[in-house]
Amino acid sequence: MHESARSAKRIAIIPGDGVGKEVIPEAVKILKAAAAKGGRRIALTEFDWGADRYLRDGMTLPSDAPEMFRRDFDAIILGAMGDPRVPGNQHAADILLGLRFKLDLYVNERPCVLFDQRLTPLKSRSEKDINFCVIRENTEGLYAGMGGFFKKGTADEIATQEDINTRKGVERIVRYAFEFARRRGYRRVCMSDKSNALTYGHDLWKRVFAEIRREFADIEWSHMYIDNLLMQMVRDPSQFQVIVTCNLFGDIASDVGAGLIGGLGLAPSGNIHPGQVSLFEPVHGSAPDIAGKNIANPMGAALAAGMMCGYIGWTAEAQAIEDAVRAAISEEKTTTDLGGSLGTRQVGDWLADRVASA
Ligand code: ATP
Repeated sequence: MHESARSAKRIAIIPGDGVGKEVIPEAVKILKAAAAKGGRRIALTEFDWGADRYLRDGMTLPSDAPEMFRRDFDAIILGAMGDPRVPGNQHAADILLGLRFKLDLYVNERPCVLFDQRLTPLKSRSEKDINFCVIRENTEGLYAGMGGFFKKGTADEIATQEDINTRKGVERIVRYAFEFARRRGYRRVCMSDKSNALTYGHDLWKRVFAEIRREFADIEWSHMYIDNLLMQMVRDPSQFQVIVTCNLFGDIASDVGAGLIGGLGLAPSGNIHPGQVSLFEPVHGSAPDIAGKNIANPMGAALAAGMMCGYIGWTAEAQAIEDAVRAAISEEKTTTDLGGSLGTRQVGDWLADRVASA
């Protein structure tokens, strides 16, 4: 995927549903500004997958989509999937989980970096105290979709949901967390599980973690049960640099992390298979309660585009987008969730201008 600097990077754009359709055009605007500034070529292809399309013709994820993305694209940017008109959000599961599983995007990288002291709800905490990344296993655990109903809808109903943990799956995510720590100059990795209660699946996590950490003698390690981890994240987030955990706990821990840095509107994520086509998206969902009002914060989507730039090797562009977000927050050019008074498009315009003129 690493082409010569002059050939265009091919990026798939899937705005999706709800606020995804508002924040992704802003992220694209900012991405284009960063690419133009750096003299980079970019080829964008938009896909209209989401609730509208599903309600129109039943299309969710075309069966050849994973192969097409692997063959024809360097990365994917996605907005959000979910719509109250689709019971159970079947289309969202097919598209988002389908891409995560079929492209084997086994890493979900969710950075939690405080850009401005005013944004954290924690007393006496500043930028130096909150700078960590949650590395969430992204293809197994309780999200594997194994289970079922027995006697559904009756008083005797039974529902099961299997927690899938494979040695291969745990090994690769734990190893990724240590390698990520090394690459980014972090010194500590904390593995979180619930092995005191989940005595099979999470026992595997504990044993594998003990094996893999020996390969990384230069990195400090720690272990915390998930309940303690969440409490410690709120009590003293400065003790964390890299947190590695299973699919469900990673989802929850990264939302707590988002709460520490200013809310969901500001949090980006990368769904990654190292060396292969990978998908970048804001952590937030489709937020139907605020959709269509030009009030959604586009910064999570912009930072996701920035993460994508880093992934495809455009480090200066990634930095430019992050710098623009920091500047917008510091100059209070923000949406209402961050205390500002601008709309989604106005923040997007400001960020794009900043990237272009920096
Ligand atoms: P999912 O199940 O996909 O995680 P969800 O319904 O749990 O979705 P979101 O759709 O992320 O959660 O919305 C949670 C709340 O966060 C929304 O009600 C909204 O107020 C807020 N929110 C989400 N995204 C944004 C955003 N970009 N800007 C401002 N507020 C947001």
